[in-house]
Amino acid sequence: MVTLPRLRCPGCGKAMGPVKAKEVPPANKYEDCLRRCEKCRIGATNAKNPAKVKYLRDGQPAEPTPAEPTSPPTNL
Ligand SMILES: [Zn+2]
Repeated sequence: MVTLPRLRCPGCGKAMGPVKAKEVPPANKYEDCLRRCEKCRIGATNAKNPAKVKYLRDGQPAEPTPAEPTSPPTNL
């Protein structure tokens, strides 16, 4: 079991973590981060050493929902 220490969100200063995890995957994007600020969409990479933590912003644009194909009008 690994415990990632508490960090402060660089955006709003809110505490993120501490987080306990069985395994710590490398975080290359916001979604991979175990410590995240939902409000700012900022994630802290999963380094145990706070000096090595990088902050990742959720840069992924929201996926546009595909428009339902409009069926041609049918005259019943
Ligand atoms: Zn924040």
